[in-house]
Amino acid sequence: MKSKMLFSVLLIFFKIFISQGQNFKPSKEKLYQSMTGEVHILTLFVDTQNNYWEDDEKEYYKKQLAKSQNWLVEEAEFYEQELEFNNETFFVDNYETIYLEKVRRGDYPKRTIAKVMDELGYTDLDDFLKRNYFDFKVQKLKLLLFVKSLDRSHAYNSFSNSDLDISVVYCQHSNGMVTDHYVISHEVLHQFGAWDLYHGQSQTLKNAEKAKEIFPNSIMANTFFNKNLNVDELTAWRVGWHYEMGDEYMDFDPAKSRGKPTANEKYKRKSKTGKSDGIKFDLKNLRRKKKEEKEKSNN
Ligand SMILES: [Zn+2]
Repeated sequence: MKSKMLFSVLLIFFKIFISQGQNFKPSKEKLYQSMTGEVHILTLFVDTQNNYWEDDEKEYYKKQLAKSQNWLVEEAEFYEQELEFNNETFFVDNYETIYLEKVRRGDYPKRTIAKVMDELGYTDLDDFLKRNYFDFKVQKLKLLLFVKSLDRSHAYNSFSNSDLDISVVYCQHSNGMVTDHYVISHEVLHQFGAWDLYHGQSQTLKNAEKAKEIFPNSIMANTFFNKNLNVDELTAWRVGWHYEMGDEYMDFDPAKSRGKPTANEKYKRKSKTGKSDGIKFDLKNLRRKKKEEKEKSNN
């Protein structure tokens, strides 16, 4: 009897342990959820005081979003992960257009979310979750805003707060560079903890060059001129598609580039040596496999 009870307790512990290992990864800001299983997406178009959406433009972005989601599902499959986007969870019509006077780079995310909820007729985010029967503790929700604005034509950033990630994709046709499914995928990956790998705030020039060498087709590097992009193994590790940390990964921690200590470094090291994550992945084999597949499809 006693041993049976002990077994049940151990089983519960084991389950919690496993589910945390698979679903959550610590980072310095929050526990990012892994980009696996069912992900609920609320997508809204935002008119601003500067510009508004035309129907044909909205159609274009809806198609790009679908393309982006298909692409991400395929990339996840490559890492043997199941991923499914659910765009129809909420009572709010997905792709509804709302009006926000301004959405600027660097806006405080909680304030943007509050404004969005207000526009949708909810008191706040909690009210939205409650009235949509959404349990944030067990379900994953991401908010994607397509903003028509006079801000930089391809300015995009993603924010995190403890409740929900929002991604803002600024869309502007004027200079001929159209936001495509790769740009959307890049932003969605950020929402699950992916790091930018191009030279800028997140990477020094030296690091960016190194990233280009190791991950030449990374979606998190420059997406504009490369049309043969993939989710590189570092990004895959960040979003929870594998748990085998490469020796060089931590070199690309944006916190390092800014000269700050990396709070999650200790954890990552532990997860490399410990057996906590349970998933064994042969990355070298994977790299080769991917190359072979590419060659096959080129022939
Ligand atoms: Zn980025």
